[in-house]
Amino acid sequence: MTATRVLVLNSGSSSLKYQLLDMRDSSRLATGLVERIGERTSRLKHTALTTGATRETTGPVTDHAAALKAVAEELGRDGLGLDSPELAAIGHRVVHGGSSFTEPAIVDDAVLAEIERLVPLAPLHNPANLTGIRTARSLRPDLPQVAVFDTAFHTTMPESAARYAIDVSTADEYRIRRYGFHGTSHAYVSRETAKLLGKAPQDVNVIVLHLGNGASASAVRGGRCVDTSMGLTPLEGLVMGTRSGDVDPAVILHLARVGGMSTDETDTLLNKKSGLIGLCGDNDMREIRRRVDEGDEQARLAFDIYIHRLKKYIGAYYAVLGRVDAIAFTAGVGENAAAVREAALAGLEELGLAVDAGLNAARGDGARIVSPEGARVTVAVVPTDEELEIATQTYALVGASHDLT
Ligand code: ADP
Repeated sequence: MTATRVLVLNSGSSSLKYQLLDMRDSSRLATGLVERIGERTSRLKHTALTTGATRETTGPVTDHAAALKAVAEELGRDGLGLDSPELAAIGHRVVHGGSSFTEPAIVDDAVLAEIERLVPLAPLHNPANLTGIRTARSLRPDLPQVAVFDTAFHTTMPESAARYAIDVSTADEYRIRRYGFHGTSHAYVSRETAKLLGKAPQDVNVIVLHLGNGASASAVRGGRCVDTSMGLTPLEGLVMGTRSGDVDPAVILHLARVGGMSTDETDTLLNKKSGLIGLCGDNDMREIRRRVDEGDEQARLAFDIYIHRLKKYIGAYYAVLGRVDAIAFTAGVGENAAAVREAALAGLEELGLAVDAGLNAARGDGARIVSPEGARVTVAVVPTDEELEIATQTYALVGASHDLT
C-alpha cells in the first residue's frame, strides 16, 4: 500500500480535534483543533509539523461540517489535503460502541446505523461522532473511514465484572451494563507498559490509571481488560475533574424526592459540578496542589478524597488480578502529578508497591519507571497517545482489508 497517512478525527459536542500521521514511522504531520463550534467566537488552531507553521483563525464556524471543511482547507495549504493520494484512511474516535463493537470497524451504512442505535447510551458524544463521520464521508466518499470505539477494549470483561446486580430483564431491556471508556488509552498504555518491562502483553498483569480531567482505572490481565471503573457512562468510578465518580445511587433518588431536582439538574450536578471542582472550586490538579502547599484546607480535603478513591481502586484491582506486575499512571494528572502518584501508593509497601522519591519527582518525556530498583511491582509513568492508537488500529484494519482484495 503506497498511501501511508491516516487522519484521526475526534469530534466532541462543540469541538473537533485532529491529527494527521504518517504510519511509516508514526510521525505527526499536522495537528489542530476547532473549538466552540456553533458559537460566534469559534477558533481554529492548526499546526503543520512538517514546516512548524502555526495558524489561528477566529470567527463563526456553524457546525461540524463547516469545521471539517475548514480543517481540510488548512491541511490543503500545507500540501496535506484530504484529496492527497497518500491519505489511506480517516480514523474516527467513537465514544460508545455498546456490546456490538468489540473491535474497530470500517464504516458502512450498517455501522452508521448501529452507532446511531447506541445514541441513547451516549446522547452527547455519539451524535457528534456521527456528524464527524458523515461529514468526512461526504468530503471523501471513496476513502475508507474507520470507527475506533472507546468501549471496545473493555468488551473482554467477564460478565461478573460487566453486569450490575440489578434485575436481569430490566438491565437487558435497557442495555444497562458496565461498558467502560478511555479504552484506546488503556489498550495503548497496557501494551506500552509491557514493552517497558521487556515482556509480551500476554505475559503481564497491569493496573492502568488514566488520570486526566476524566479519569478511569482498569485491570488488564495478559493484555485483556478484566475490569474497569467507568460504567454505563463515564460517570462511575474515580473522583474526576468535574464528575463525582462513585456515589450511592440512592443519592439521585434523594435529590429527586427531597430536593425536587430534575433528571437534567442531577445530570449536571454529578457530571459538571462535582468531583474536584465541586469539592474545592478547582479542577486543575496544578492549582489544587498549589493551594494545598499554601495550607488551604478545602483543597487538602478534595485532594485526600481523590487519593482515597484512587487507592481503593488500586486495592480492588490488585485483588481482581491476584498478581500485579505493573501499575501505570497516565494522562494529564497521572503523567505530571508526582504528588498524586506518591500519595496513591503511600502505605502499600506490603503489597510490593512504592515509588522512589527521586525517580518519581524527576521529569521525563517517554515511558519511565518510578519504583525503586528491584521492586516486586513496577510503578511506571506511561504517556498515553490515543491518536496514535486510533491511527494504528485504523491503518491495520485498512491494510488488512486491502490484502483481502
Ligand atoms: P482530558 O484529555 O481528560 O481533558 P488530560 O489528560 O489532558 O485531560 O489532563 C488534563 C488535566 O491534567 C488537567 O485538568 C490538570 O488537572 C492535569 N495536569 C496537567 N498538567 C499537570 C501538571 N503539570 N501537574 C498536575 N496536573 C496536571
